[in-house]
Amino acid sequence: MGQLEVNNLVKRLGDNLVVDGVSFAVNEGEFFVLLGPSGSGKSTLLRLICGLETPDSGSIQVNKRDITRLPPRERNLGMVFQDYGLYPNMNVYQNIAYGLEARGVPRAEIARRIPPAAEKLGLTAHLKSGIVDLSGGEQQRVALARAMVKDADAYLYDEPLSNLDPKLRHKARRDIMTVHKEKHKPSVYVTHDQSEAFAMGDRIAVLAKGKLQQVGTAEALLHQPANLFIAMFVGSPPINLVEGTIATENQEYYFYGDGIALKLPQAWHHPLNHYDMRKIILGLRPDALTVPESDVDEDSLVSGAVEYVEPLLGETIVGMKVGSRTSLSAALQDTENESLNVGESLRVSIDTERLLFFDVESEKAIAI
Ligand code: ADP
Ligand code: MG
Repeated sequence: MGQLEVNNLVKRLGDNLVVDGVSFAVNEGEFFVLLGPSGSGKSTLLRLICGLETPDSGSIQVNKRDITRLPPRERNLGMVFQDYGLYPNMNVYQNIAYGLEARGVPRAEIARRIPPAAEKLGLTAHLKSGIVDLSGGEQQRVALARAMVKDADAYLYDEPLSNLDPKLRHKARRDIMTVHKEKHKPSVYVTHDQSEAFAMGDRIAVLAKGKLQQVGTAEALLHQPANLFIAMFVGSPPINLVEGTIATENQEYYFYGDGIALKLPQAWHHPLNHYDMRKIILGLRPDALTVPESDVDEDSLVSGAVEYVEPLLGETIVGMKVGSRTSLSAALQDTENESLNVGESLRVSIDTERLLFFDVESEKAIAI
């Protein structure tokens, strides 16, 4: 089975520890997304995999073959860069052919492979065009076609869509998935854009300061974030975080924060039994706040003054001030009967099945 594996990769550049002990394995046919803020080490990680940098320690395997020290052209990887890496003095056909020629693929074989790839990516009419005569979207497809004609063991993409305007990005995403589905090889796709990561990734690995923070599906990152960084980095609108205290009374557990008092479900009693009278951070996704039904449990209600109202497609984001220092944002689905004018008071119900808690010191999520 095809597989790409990196083990404990470390890379220093100058004084910076840019990649700090990263390990992951990507399966055959898996589309694996590396998501992280700018400067988190994503490009360096891809450059290590494709051989443009050499790691200080750690190893890289493709199909169980150790490629850590091989020069780039012996690694047999397909790579699509952010700036496309096209040669302006060659036409489209020559650019697509270049990688194959460099590897000594016979001319007849090249001529056989290019037309179907060009056809799939809508480039047939452009094969003789100069690169500078193409739009950004077309250039991006040339870079993709160049990766597509290779029979690579794995494919790597470094923010290949970030130079395209938003309209073209959706088409380009589909083009990339077309190539991926046809190749069915392990693929690593780098982006700082979480909506892109969520739309494309089978699994998503979140990188911060050169370290992998969590690897999982979009669902897992949203609903079981490993730590505060993930909780804040993933999700839109951002998560609400409220510092407060856990207290136990009559065998019940409560969270008390500025403007919020919650009775906690039984499931939290055990995980929080060391937190009695201690500080803790509550995390609430905006869509865990809803317009209450009439017979709602008083223990999960909060109220406050509306600070802003932002209507979106299918939902309304409402900011409300619930305490002297605390505001919450709520993503409300059904707001027809609510008064949502700034300054008016609003009551919302918190879905206590969706609470998240984080340790103040370690910033790790407390597992339920
Ligand atoms: P990303 O692709 O996630 O934006 P990079 O891998 O490009 O991140 O860079 C990660 C970090 O490495 C950045 O903080 C950057 O400043 C640092 N860095 C990159 N190249 C060098 C270099 N040649 N010398 C020192 N630091 C570098
Ligand atoms: Mg980068």
